[in-house]
Amino acid sequence: MSAELASQGVLSVTDRYDYRMTPYLSSLLQGRAADDPLSLQFLPDVREMQSLSYETSDPIGDVPFSPVKGIVHRHPDRVLLKAAHACPVYCRFCFRREMIGSNGEPLLGPELDAAIDYVRAHPEVWEVILTGGDPLSLSGRRLGDILERLASIEHVGVLRIHSRVPIMAPDSMDESRLASLLQSKPVHLAVHVNHPDELTDAVVDCLHRLSGRGVMLLSQTVLLKGVNDEVRVLDELFRRLVRSKVRPYYLHHPDLAPGTSHFRVPIEVGQELMRLLRGRLSGLCLPTYVLDIPGGFGKVPIGPAYVGGRLASGGREVVDNHGVRHAYPE
Ligand SMILES: *Cc1c(COP(=O)(O)O)cnc(C)c1O
Repeated sequence: MSAELASQGVLSVTDRYDYRMTPYLSSLLQGRAADDPLSLQFLPDVREMQSLSYETSDPIGDVPFSPVKGIVHRHPDRVLLKAAHACPVYCRFCFRREMIGSNGEPLLGPELDAAIDYVRAHPEVWEVILTGGDPLSLSGRRLGDILERLASIEHVGVLRIHSRVPIMAPDSMDESRLASLLQSKPVHLAVHVNHPDELTDAVVDCLHRLSGRGVMLLSQTVLLKGVNDEVRVLDELFRRLVRSKVRPYYLHHPDLAPGTSHFRVPIEVGQELMRLLRGRLSGLCLPTYVLDIPGGFGKVPIGPAYVGGRLASGGREVVDNHGVRHAYPE
């Protein structure tokens, strides 16, 4: 921890929530102000000590849907597998901030076997999603072993990984990690990226190496105040992702994680951003704006809605992306 950070009175923050600096992140943050979109995402902030009554350590309800350690089975056809507990860097808005890093535990030996046995024993599980702690923080050998064991289960059709590693530690995507992604079943990789400045030359090169290996690339972005709550920023982010062969998948409304209220914008703001983006961006560049309903009720698209109520004349009212109302007879 630098003297600069300590002097900002953030020691209590890093005591409570993990913080990690890497040479790559440090070079990325060089010369950036405290309110810069990248500084905000990764540097501890005293505002994190302020938790609201409705913020919780498990905002999206992983715990009630965990039949065995490391597995979350909320939807019939897919499970989450949390095999890693660490991340290359710690996002200050993370919804699992109290379950990962020094607050988490790796899934080792018999526990990992039990999690994979769970998938094997549930033929309705068609997809296994490896998620945070960051799965790509595992060694290529370990990750390859887990993916191979999952791919060998006949009813598993697809493997998916959600990761920040290609974005925040592109230098660690070594040959053994790349090779681990080559499996007998399709592997989709959703990279977590929030601002165009995260797409450095090293990151774009890493994304090209991944797509060159046949990995299907998706992205997820968290809508964050002061980071990307502007049309111009999201427009540039999504276009650059598509140019890098990454299909924007979800724009997440931020979850109610403790000490993260300074990042949240009202849902109306997100809806207005999505409406404006639809008016100016190729459909290829448009993710779905989703909210994970607190308590474990799942993700739902939250608009904006383009279809209104029934018209007196019969039919429905449809709104185009400029806000103009049109009738659709039914
Ligand atoms: C987000 C999530 C998924 C994946 O949802 P998709 O809509 O398929 O991306 C699956 N299970 C749980 C518990 C989740 O939180």
